[in-house]
Amino acid sequence: MSKKLKVGIIGGGVGGVTLAAGLSQHGIETHLFEHAAQFGDVGAGIQMTPNAVKVITALGAAPALDKVGFLPEALVGRNWDTGEETFRIPLKEDCPRLYGAPFYHVHRADLHHLLADLVAGANVTFSMHCIDVTQDADKAVAHFADGSTFEADLIVGADGVRSQVRHAMFGTEAPHFTGHMCYRAVVPFDEMPDFVAPESSFWLGPKSHVVTYYVNGGKAVNIVAVAETAEWVEESWNALSTREDLMADFKGWHPNITKLFERVTEVYRWGLFDRDPMAKWSKGRVTLLGDAAHPMLPFLSQGAAMAIEDAYVLAQALAAMPDKLEQALAQYEAERVGRTSRVLLEARERGKTYHLASKDEQAKRDAEYREQQKKDPHAGGIKANWVYAYNATDFRPAV
Ligand SMILES: Cc1cc2nc3c(=O)[nH]c(=O)nc-3n(C[C@H](O)[C@H](O)[C@H](O)COP(=O)(O)OP(=O)(O)OC[C@H]3O[C@@H](n4cnc5c(N)ncnc54)[C@H](O)[C@@H]3O)c2cc1C
Repeated sequence: MSKKLKVGIIGGGVGGVTLAAGLSQHGIETHLFEHAAQFGDVGAGIQMTPNAVKVITALGAAPALDKVGFLPEALVGRNWDTGEETFRIPLKEDCPRLYGAPFYHVHRADLHHLLADLVAGANVTFSMHCIDVTQDADKAVAHFADGSTFEADLIVGADGVRSQVRHAMFGTEAPHFTGHMCYRAVVPFDEMPDFVAPESSFWLGPKSHVVTYYVNGGKAVNIVAVAETAEWVEESWNALSTREDLMADFKGWHPNITKLFERVTEVYRWGLFDRDPMAKWSKGRVTLLGDAAHPMLPFLSQGAAMAIEDAYVLAQALAAMPDKLEQALAQYEAERVGRTSRVLLEARERGKTYHLASKDEQAKRDAEYREQQKKDPHAGGIKANWVYAYNATDFRPAV
C-alpha cells in the first residue's frame, strides 16, 4: 500500500489555495498556514486567461467564476494620446474555440473566495507567520513566529514574492526592483461608462502604459497605470497614493483616461519586483510555487495564472506518486520551470516594447502591430497566444 502523504503549505494566496484544493480533491492530508487573520479582500482586478481558466474548470469552479467574471470582447492596443488602435485581439468568441476556455476579468478577492471555497477538505490556520523551514531525511518542519512548529512529509512555499521558505532553502537574495511603479485602483460605476470600452485596453505611452478593464460583472473598472521610475517603491497594498499624483504622472493622456482617473477615490502605489528564473525550486522535502518560485512583471497578466498552473501540476504529481517524493518534485519542476521562466523573461521584454520612448521607435512598433494584425491578430499584439494555448490539465506524471 502506498504511504499516506502529509503536506504543509505556507501561504494562502491564489497559488496556496489552488494547491490546497487540488491536494484535498485527491484525498491528500493538507495543512495550509496563512500569515493574515483571514482570506483577505485585498487586491484589485486580475485577468484570468484561458490557460488558468482550464485549471479552474478542472477543479470544478467554472460556474462560480462565470458568475463573478466579466468576459471582455477583445484585448486592444491603443496609443496613449490619440487613442488610435494599434492591435485588436478578439477574445470573447475566439478564446473558447482557440484555447478551450474563456478569458475573464475578475476582482482578485472574488477569485480568491471561489478558490478558497474548494479547500473544505484542508486544514487552514490563519495568523501563522512562517519564519523558517528545516528538514531531515524523514520530515520537513515549518517554524512559526509564535514559537510553534509543524511537521510534514513535504512543505510547499506558496508565500509570495518575499518568500521565507525560499529564503530558508535558497538564501537571502532579495527580489529585484524592476524600476517600474504602478498605481492600482478600482472605480465603481452604476452603469458602464461610454469612455471605457468593454475590453482589456492596453494604452501604450513613452516609458509608461495603462491597462483598463471591467471587473465585478461590469460594475467597476480596474486600473493599472505603470510608469518607469528611478525611485525605489515598496510592493504593498498599504501604500496609499492620491488621485492628484496619479493624474500628474499621466498628464496629457487621452481624454478617456483622464475622465476615468478623475473618478478615482482610492489608489495604491505599488513597486514591481521580479527575480531571475531559477533552475530548481525543490530541496529535499521542500519546494516552491507561484511568486515564491518565479515572481514576474505583470505585463503578460500571468503571475496568478502561473501559480494556478503550478498548483495543479504539483497536486497531480504528488497524487500519482505519494511515496516517491523526489520523483514527483522532479516531474513537477520538469513540467513547470521552463514554461514559467519563458513567461517571466517575455514579460520583461514586453515592458521594453510597451514603453518605447522615441516617436520613431513607437512608429516602427505600431507598424509591426498593424502588419501582424492583418496576418493573424492572435499571434500579434502582446503575443500571448502560446501562453493561453498551454493546458496544465493535460499533464500526466510518469509513474
Ligand atoms: C499590478 C499587478 C497586476 C497583476 N495582474 C495580474 C493578472 O492580470 N493576471 C495574473 O494572473 N496575475 C496578475 N498579477 C500577479 C499576481 O497578483 C501574483 O502573481 C499572484 O498573486 C501570485 O500568487 P501567489 O499565491 O504565488 O502569491 P501571493 O498572492 O502573494 O500569496 C502569498 C500568500 O502568502 C502569505 N504569506 C507571505 N509570507 C508568509 C509567511 N512568512 N508565512 C505565512 N504566510 C505568508 C501572504 O499573506 C499571501 O496570502 C498582477 C500583479 C500586479 C502587481
